[in-house]
Amino acid sequence: MAYTVSKLTDYSAAALERASAELLSALGDEAAAVKNEADWKGFRDRWMARKDGVLTQINERWLKNAPKEVKRDAGRQVNLIKEQVEQKVDQLKNIEIEEDVNALDHGPEAIGRVDISLPGARRPIGAEHPVIKTTNEMVRVFQKLGYSVAEGPVVETDYYNFEALNFPPNHPARDTQDTLFIAGQQGKPQRERLLLRTHTSPVQIRTMEKMRPPIRIVIPGTVHRNDPPDASHSPMFHQIEGLAVDTNITFGDLKGTLDHAMKEFFGSSVKTSFRPSFFPFTEPSAEMFVSCFICGGSGRRGSDPCRPCKQTGWIEILGCGMVDPNVFEFVKDNGYDPKKVSGFAFGMGADRIALLKYGVDDIQLFFQGDVRFLGQWA
Ligand SMILES: [Zn+2]
Repeated sequence: MAYTVSKLTDYSAAALERASAELLSALGDEAAAVKNEADWKGFRDRWMARKDGVLTQINERWLKNAPKEVKRDAGRQVNLIKEQVEQKVDQLKNIEIEEDVNALDHGPEAIGRVDISLPGARRPIGAEHPVIKTTNEMVRVFQKLGYSVAEGPVVETDYYNFEALNFPPNHPARDTQDTLFIAGQQGKPQRERLLLRTHTSPVQIRTMEKMRPPIRIVIPGTVHRNDPPDASHSPMFHQIEGLAVDTNITFGDLKGTLDHAMKEFFGSSVKTSFRPSFFPFTEPSAEMFVSCFICGGSGRRGSDPCRPCKQTGWIEILGCGMVDPNVFEFVKDNGYDPKKVSGFAFGMGADRIALLKYGVDDIQLFFQGDVRFLGQWA
């Protein structure tokens, strides 16, 4: 005979215990009889329906008329029962779903339980991160010019990151204020000490060690510096670097290549401008600016000043220069005799270009992993 909730009159601990045990035993029996989805729905409604479910009935028949002094204990007992009922209903629901999945493999009689008219589960589709997207677009520009992609380790030695790139022994970039060093390296000679590469330039040396000239490579990658994070700095960021080495490469080749690449990337109307600069691994060196692609070079947006170019009409995009002959000396044995070959190199920040391109004003947004922000590129 089916279980019914009897009215409680005796509120002693022993009587409460007895009534609870009777109820839970009925719960167990009825749960064991659940065999399919229809059974489960009936079971759920019998125990949990707001109108006349067993849980509603025990509220009515046990709690409502309980004397004040036992109300708390009775309430606690009823709460325990509620938990068990909810757990049982939940548990059987999961079993039911598993059975439905299996039903697809178990012949036509089981398939009847799957509602194939229901819409499928929609899985969110991932998207390229804006920095990766920018990197890929820039890399593609150079690939079309015949450049191939080279990559290298993020944990580098002092030799590849500094020495072979013509940084003098006491250059400030070697200071821990600028560079993140791996701990416990003090016992090693300086050139073997490990650090997180501060630029993608070590890959220039690594590639020249492996490949004889002529080479044309573009090097995307992650780099690290000891910068506290703020709106325009991040201890981890991304560079895109390039190197071309051949006989008779001139500064004219450098200017022509980069001017073409910028027009390809930002649009054919941008102009480029080169201003003298200094880097240890190039001589002469320059910073390259492009005419502001936001205000068209006017420095103003309507009646407002143009912020990205600081009203100058020009935006600094990259550093570049002719490879310093001292750098070739380190790979001379592989065909890079500075008397016979020349080359140019350039490097830019992918994050900075993405900030400018998409009008984002805080670099931290790129690395916080907030799907609401990143989803805008989906
Ligand atoms: Zn501007």
